[in-house]
Amino acid sequence: NAPLAETDADLMNSITLEMGRQQEHIELIASENIVSRAVMEAQGSVLTNKYAEGYPGRRYYGGCEYVDIAENLAIERAKKLFNAAYVNVQPHSGAQANGAVNLALLQPGDTILGMSLAAGGHLTHGAPPAQSGKWFNAIQYGVSREDAMVDFDEVERLAKEHQPKVIIAGGSAYPRFIDFKRFREIADSVGAYFWVDMAHFAGLVAGGAHPNPLEHAHVVTTTTHKTLRGPRGGMILTNDLELGKKFNSAVFPGLQGGPLMHVIAAKAVAFGEALQPEFNDYAARVVENARALAARLVEGGCDIVSGGTDTHLMLVDLRPLGLTGRDADNSLGRANITCNKNGIPFDPEKPMVTSGIRLGTPAGTTRGFGVKEFELVGDFIIEILNGLKANPEDNSAAEASVREKVIALCKDFPIY
Ligand code: PLP
Repeated sequence: NAPLAETDADLMNSITLEMGRQQEHIELIASENIVSRAVMEAQGSVLTNKYAEGYPGRRYYGGCEYVDIAENLAIERAKKLFNAAYVNVQPHSGAQANGAVNLALLQPGDTILGMSLAAGGHLTHGAPPAQSGKWFNAIQYGVSREDAMVDFDEVERLAKEHQPKVIIAGGSAYPRFIDFKRFREIADSVGAYFWVDMAHFAGLVAGGAHPNPLEHAHVVTTTTHKTLRGPRGGMILTNDLELGKKFNSAVFPGLQGGPLMHVIAAKAVAFGEALQPEFNDYAARVVENARALAARLVEGGCDIVSGGTDTHLMLVDLRPLGLTGRDADNSLGRANITCNKNGIPFDPEKPMVTSGIRLGTPAGTTRGFGVKEFELVGDFIIEILNGLKANPEDNSAAEASVREKVIALCKDFPIY
């Protein structure tokens, strides 16, 4: 039982290089964060050795009394964080949580109504290449051309026309608060379940910086690793205990086998952290930083989709600069700024090219960046984009200049 560095140098090399990358790059991918040592310790614990099919107190394996403590802590803490009567912490990922909700509420061929990928929705909300799009009659709504906000006239029209069994709100690239009450009224008017996927903004809800969708939705799903700052994983929440029973059966034995008890333990740790008053400060700073970054980018000549953000993320429309998301993403990457190219609503470019980039502040805020640092990050981005505009074939001078400044800034805010 020698340490990894001795038993597997090749693999250790991958971890060491990735640690260096995380230290020296500014992470602006909106769905990423930096977990605490405590979260990693729980995830790297002996709980990985344990099979625990079933639920606390009702397992199909012996020896589960101690992992039950971990799962019960995760459940109770999540209930408190989100004011929920029922929580299932076993989904291995956000997509698994969404699959379990589909399994619990729908039959193959049933109609669902979700936000299109092109407008900022997620694959699991009925996109054609995903299981949700293949196995269900998936109708998709979008955003309005005028303000890039959810087009409620369209949602209402499609709901009336197609009578979906489930209406899904939430997405991966939608920067604004969502009017959950309005969605619920539309769902009620056609007898549909209203489901919110809060994967992106769950940490903001936990930290009191975002409305809580559980006040209006029949069911809420989430990932645990984005703004919520836990291990990679998923979760299902509801206030309807009868629905809760269905979700339990859908997760296990419906969709998964043994739960990942080490990950559930790490979820418990992260939820414990999110219950502390400091997490409210964190959530508020994430939003404040996103607004500061968006404002600086606008000053620098960028367009922000919908004119700004209410959350941790923004979509930058690069068309006024004559740039594509692919080229901007690549050049920023060479300057040690990590983000992702992203389609903007009604994007004329192909998905592998795109007219936009998606930026988020959760990881930078965790490492200690405030408004001042995010304004600097905005300046770095503008320098790269202007460089790219002037020299589309070779932006290496701007990339080198920014990379040096990024590394210096990162040194002042070390992680781990
Ligand atoms: N739902 C939303 C809104 C997401 O943004 C994502 C991930 O990007 C998921 C679900 C899927 O989560 P996972 O990658 O854990 O399967």
